[in-house]
Amino acid sequence: MRIDILTLFPEMFDGPFRQSILKRAQEKGLVEINLYNIRDWSTNKHKRVDDYPFGGGAGMVMMIEPVVLCIEELRSVTDYDEIIYMSPDGTRLNQGIANHLSLKTNFLILCGHYKGIDERIRQYFITREISIGDYVLSGGEMAAMVLTDALVRLIPGVLNDETSALTDSFQDDLVSPPVYTRPYDFRGYKVPDILLSGNDKEITRWRHEQSLLRTRERRPELNSDQESPSGPEQ
Ligand code: SAH
Repeated sequence: MRIDILTLFPEMFDGPFRQSILKRAQEKGLVEINLYNIRDWSTNKHKRVDDYPFGGGAGMVMMIEPVVLCIEELRSVTDYDEIIYMSPDGTRLNQGIANHLSLKTNFLILCGHYKGIDERIRQYFITREISIGDYVLSGGEMAAMVLTDALVRLIPGVLNDETSALTDSFQDDLVSPPVYTRPYDFRGYKVPDILLSGNDKEITRWRHEQSLLRTRERRPELNSDQESPSGPEQ
């Protein structure tokens, strides 16, 4: 997988992309992540990348020219499956979308800033718009990090135990069951005995029950028609 990120603030990515799973995935060659500073494509002598909105109003707007020059140059060498704009009014990211996208190979992700980007970029150059939730961030950078992380951990071989991504919350429309580790007894707070029973079949059943219970309690909208004792709601 290749992920090219267009941003005005490439340094913001240093920490998250150089730690833990994202770092290892890059080292193993399972993903290549490149950061491009849109400012480098500004033809303005002051390297300007934003301007006042036509029609007036508060805030600055990212200009079309540097963004498009950058996209065009990158597009001439890489065949992108998706050119994604991170946007609060895009499709809300969920595990299903992450799963679907993780089957693709080449991504270009554009991070907006200020009031957003000139609408013509969205109209003519973007293939998909993704939001990470119904709230407004100062820029698309953190949203792009979230999307990148969600995609990269699904690439086969990135997680040590490949099945572990499949047992995470939201796969199967269920949230995860609780997990425990040593010690068995911490100040009298004990681990459920079933997990120490050694009976794999019973443990699997208990975990599934816990998943169902938790989903019903916390996120009932995820699987309203699954296996409830009284049957699906009418
Ligand atoms: N004026 C815009 C918000 C601009 S916020 C509006 O009201 O819709 C600046 C940038 O942050 C956006 O261009 C976008 O790239 C990013 N951004 C903000 N909130 C986001 C969210 N929830 N998901 C994804 N990107 C977001």
